[in-house]
Amino acid sequence: MSSVAVVSSENMDEKQQSVSTPVVQATHTKVNLLGMSRTELEKFFEDLGEKKFRAGQVMKWIHQYFVTDFAEMSNISGKLREKLEKICEIKAPEVVHRNYSKDGTRKWVFRVGDGEGSLVETVLIPAEDKTGARKTLCISSQVGCALDCSFCSTGKQGFQRDLTPAEIIGQLWMANYSYMEDVPVAERERTVTNVVMMGMGEPLLNYDAVLSSMQLMLDDFAYGMSKRRVTLSTSGVVPKIDQLAQDIDVALAISLHAPNDELRNELVPINKKYPLQQLIAACQRYLAKDGNESARRHVTIEYVMLDGVNDQPEHAQQLLKLLKNLPSKINLIPFNPFPHAPYGRSSRNRIIAFQKTLSDAGFVCTIRQTRGDDIDAACGQLVGQVADRTRRAEQWKKKVAQQQEILRTQG
Ligand code: SAH
Ligand code: SF4
Repeated sequence: MSSVAVVSSENMDEKQQSVSTPVVQATHTKVNLLGMSRTELEKFFEDLGEKKFRAGQVMKWIHQYFVTDFAEMSNISGKLREKLEKICEIKAPEVVHRNYSKDGTRKWVFRVGDGEGSLVETVLIPAEDKTGARKTLCISSQVGCALDCSFCSTGKQGFQRDLTPAEIIGQLWMANYSYMEDVPVAERERTVTNVVMMGMGEPLLNYDAVLSSMQLMLDDFAYGMSKRRVTLSTSGVVPKIDQLAQDIDVALAISLHAPNDELRNELVPINKKYPLQQLIAACQRYLAKDGNESARRHVTIEYVMLDGVNDQPEHAQQLLKLLKNLPSKINLIPFNPFPHAPYGRSSRNRIIAFQKTLSDAGFVCTIRQTRGDDIDAACGQLVGQVADRTRRAEQWKKKVAQQQEILRTQG
């Protein structure tokens, strides 16, 4: 018997399911094995007086067969299973809502604490590519974000806390499990092919937890994902980009959004601390760590298209100059509006013209398709209807109200 309290999955097309039963229930005093890296688990078993190789066995049960009940781990002795049951657990965060869209997009809202705003979201986006069917999971790393980018609804929520490794890898575990819950254990397989750390939060400001989660993603005893298919996205925490280069080989995406410091200071305030020149140099150093089989052949540049703000021909020209010496692919992201957002989305024509300037100069430049619009799963809408409850959100609302009042009296 599995200890997982499985919620009904009958109405897959239903727009929204509220899940009142925690998906995985467990007590709080036990050690949670879900977020442990191989090294940590090996030490855990050694401390128990067991052989190190038990770590690999248990990891496979957890991350490849999605088993949370030790009783099902048939290659582990009954005595050890009993011992494990007493002292540890395998516990993913609690799912409070899930939405499965007709286009295949899936979204989960996880509760990661007692506070009203302690919710994070995870989105799975399916797509076809040259290599076949892709399933990309967009994972959150923090509850809220401290960096306050002016076009980002997560930023408006303020920062609440870092996620633990179990809460980060738990998102990947749950997404895989959602395809396998009705499949017999022996036939289960890993379904998610790609991960992007592009959900809520700045992953490089929760460095240790994000690093150990990404190690699990790449580990053959866990998800065994290709390093080119795990992407970390950052707004530009320069010293941590250098640390990342030393610690792990994954693909890097930079939330650039502006081609000059003046504009970027306004859109991505961390630019005041680490201006563009430093950021580009850090990207070059990241790529310089290159090996033949490395994930680091280029960086992805994310550029949100804000109507009349950063989408003019001169911005495209400045971007070309800025990226001249950085092997990069550019991804233009149509802005996803949220309530009280001070920006609009650039027109389709404007985005295509911007793309053409970059492509004509030899850059690979794509336009991100907005998917899952019917379930608010599009990028930057991850907090969606989750209410803002921080002081910053209050201040933000006041500021918007004041501006509206000024406009009203002027008009
Ligand atoms: N903090 C990291 C990762 C999370 S944000 C970072 O900033 O890179 C993931 C991506 O979504 C970033 O490129 C971010 O700039 C973009 N984004 C945020 N709000 C958006 C919005 N309203 N519309 C479109 N993209 C948005
Ligand atoms: Fe944070 Fe990224 Fe949003 Fe900026 S864009 S506020 S860094 S989550």
